[in-house]
Amino acid sequence: MLSYRHAFHAGNHADVLKHVVLIQLLRYLGQKDTPYMYIDTHAGAGVYALDTGYADKSREYETGIARLWERDDLPPPLAEYVQLVKDMNPSGKMRYYPGSPYCAERIAREQDRLRLFELHPSDSKILEENFRKLEAHAAAQGERAGARGKRVMITKADSFSGLKALLPPPSRRGLVLIDPPYEVKDDYRQVKNTLADALIRFATGTYAVWYPVLQRMESREFPAKLKRLPCKDWLHVTLSIGTPAPDGFGLHSSGMFVLNPPWTLEPMLRELMPFLVKALARDDGARFTLETGTPIASSQGPRRA
Ligand code: SAM
Repeated sequence: MLSYRHAFHAGNHADVLKHVVLIQLLRYLGQKDTPYMYIDTHAGAGVYALDTGYADKSREYETGIARLWERDDLPPPLAEYVQLVKDMNPSGKMRYYPGSPYCAERIAREQDRLRLFELHPSDSKILEENFRKLEAHAAAQGERAGARGKRVMITKADSFSGLKALLPPPSRRGLVLIDPPYEVKDDYRQVKNTLADALIRFATGTYAVWYPVLQRMESREFPAKLKRLPCKDWLHVTLSIGTPAPDGFGLHSSGMFVLNPPWTLEPMLRELMPFLVKALARDDGARFTLETGTPIASSQGPRRA
């Protein structure tokens, strides 16, 4: 189903959680010289205008990036994320918001590789266009011609079937971000099956899955299903910005489930999440959860909750 357009949701509380975690995962991979591959299975358009079109209509960014924009007391991981957004808004006005491919492009080094899947014909075209502009800009700044172009590959295809051809990456180091729309129930099943297959091909990879925390059964059962996948260990973090609306309308909570996370992620999030909850709280129902564990089949489940 291709009715989903991420522009409606750009910069909301769920994007904040997802993109802060993404940046930290890439920073960790960048600590070693060996190149890594970043695979974005559901890339979206790459960059979103906040002051026009879909984002301006929904104004969801007011639940996320807008609440952090003016603050000068952000903990380092949040400060780094907000700075990345600010760097694409040199006028100082919050006009553009970076999607996951753009965040990754900013953090990745010349030796790293970005592989981006986007199925929607309009968004994949915009994504191509955004990366063409980035390359032109880099060339104008005197960077080696084509350096960016070579390391980024955009594929307009179904990533659930396209991912397997990329695994394992040549350097055996990599991060896969899986961020589908979940507008159809089948996305939950496809994510789980794709991960099961990916772990056979690339057992040591890090896999970060975003999902909406909803009342629907597929969403409630999703983390438990991911906890059974045969990874080394996992981390599960959720952020709720308030009590759910009585009519159930709107997204108030989302989660990131990371398979084979770096050891640094849990302590970083333990420090960060209380701040983020306070900063984005809509009411006193705002909260976070953070748990880590090893696959349920091979142990007694979560170590800490
Ligand atoms: N990851 C992006 C970010 O953080 O900026 C947002 C991605 S958005 C939640 C999901 C995207 O997946 C949409 O742009 C949609 O068109 C695309 N999509 C849906 N099904 C897909 C599939 N099977 N393969 C590749 N892309 C798909």
